[in-house]
Amino acid sequence: MSEEKKLPDPSGLKEEILAKYPPKIARKRSKAMVINDPELDQQIQSNVRTIPGIITQRGCTYAGCKGVVLGPTRDIVNLVHGPIGCSFYAWLTRRNQTDADEIVEGGANYMTYSFSTDMQDDNIVFGGEKKLAQAIQEAYDIFKPKAIGVFSTCPVGLIGDDVHAVSRQMKEKLGDCNVFGFSCEGYKGVSQSAGHHIANNQLFRHVIGLDDSQPEHKYNVNLLGEYNIGGDGFEIDRIFKKCGINIICTFSGNSTMDKFANSHMADLNLVMCHRSINYMAEMQETKFGIPWMKVNFIGAESTAKALRKVGEYFEDEALKARIEEVIAEEMPSVKERVAKARKVTEGKLAMLFVGGSRAHHYQELFSELGIKTVSAGYEFGHRDDYEGRKVLPTIKVDADSRNIEEIKVEKDETRYKPRASEEKLKALDEKGLEVSDYRGMMPDMADQSLIVDDISHWETEKLIDFYKPDIFCAGIKEKYVVQKSGIPLKQLHSYDYGGPYAGFEGAKNFYADIEKILSTSIWKKIKAPWLSHENDPCICAEYVA
Ligand code: SF4
Repeated sequence: MSEEKKLPDPSGLKEEILAKYPPKIARKRSKAMVINDPELDQQIQSNVRTIPGIITQRGCTYAGCKGVVLGPTRDIVNLVHGPIGCSFYAWLTRRNQTDADEIVEGGANYMTYSFSTDMQDDNIVFGGEKKLAQAIQEAYDIFKPKAIGVFSTCPVGLIGDDVHAVSRQMKEKLGDCNVFGFSCEGYKGVSQSAGHHIANNQLFRHVIGLDDSQPEHKYNVNLLGEYNIGGDGFEIDRIFKKCGINIICTFSGNSTMDKFANSHMADLNLVMCHRSINYMAEMQETKFGIPWMKVNFIGAESTAKALRKVGEYFEDEALKARIEEVIAEEMPSVKERVAKARKVTEGKLAMLFVGGSRAHHYQELFSELGIKTVSAGYEFGHRDDYEGRKVLPTIKVDADSRNIEEIKVEKDETRYKPRASEEKLKALDEKGLEVSDYRGMMPDMADQSLIVDDISHWETEKLIDFYKPDIFCAGIKEKYVVQKSGIPLKQLHSYDYGGPYAGFEGAKNFYADIEKILSTSIWKKIKAPWLSHENDPCICAEYVA
């Protein structure tokens, strides 16, 4: 990077931020803020308890389990066991889309419903198991679903309701409905992340491997950690179909019970959001012999890269040739669109504080627009998401996360089938395919960029003052606070109700949306005209003819 393009040194900013905290808090937060040097192996503190009162972006374990992983599945009734708030606030607020065409063909879709046991005082005092069993029966009688998932909220663990026992009994009683529970009480772990892990475990235990039918297609993959926000998954489906690659199951955008049940028949798992689904990738590899690769479909170039990885993996010249044809067909309109947007976006600065994967993935899209990411961080990433999986053996699970179950998975005696030899996987890894690996966000970020885990409100304000970014990416809670400071905020959870942003078509949508945000004149009108003449107070007026 040339001297004039170097990012400003944020050491002074870091000191200023920390100076405001009591010493103990400052020590803790200091470890969560790293001035990046991509050449070094730096350590960041992450996945630790949030400091009370700091105004975090984080959510809870229930949100990670029900809201993120199981929420997008359209034909499993997601029954929330708890008082009404948890279910109400998670009702259609994540924009994981589902496919109406498939419903016409006979599938069910419960996306528009909010199922809750609506616990009352007497359920807290006398227990809620009876009410839960009744609610499962009622859901079954009305909808006849293939499966019902029961999600525990905070009080459930405290009063000792056994959602697993009730689920087992009801599964036996109903006969043709798979009922399973999740101990995803909101207070477990330190963020949504614990909920992802719990969801992975229970899906693996109760659903994966139930259907051994051999897929008819030749190239069979699963797409893991893609939740079809704003139709991202649909765009990836379109591209895969065009290339002739069959996605058995997407975890879990537009997914169904049957797709999960058959997913262990795939020959390759492609991992988008490493944080939320790496457990599933590992468990399927151990039990069934399916290798996994990290991919990113956010950004046109990274989409092309991901497709080429799949071609390399299957070692099939016809498939590779088809992939190249598709890339060649898709790229011209992408290039044309980005060239138009770059007239506005070139040289601008972005900051990204999102979830557990997008703060990394979207840097690709921004760099296609000529926008540099000066600062980024995750709400609930772990060290491996920042520093790469090489640090996994050194991560110590602390007291706050120790109660999250690690399930012991072994080779399936009859169904384990290594899809590729060790030598082949090693050779692919050497070509940079990230086989069963993820290199993390930090090596991809610029020198002197500032990385902040679990950013607080105070830190957000100081960072904005310091960097004066042209665009800030985060979620709904941050949006209006940031915009009040005169900086546009792009929501990268809900996409501000637009999208898709994945794949080639998604990249074009994103270029257009960012170009629009940066061109809007509203940001220049924030200061009243008489206040922009600070040293020269005056009243401005114009003649009207
Ligand atoms: S923290 Fe508890 S009460 Fe709040 S949404 Fe999560 S499960 Fe519900």
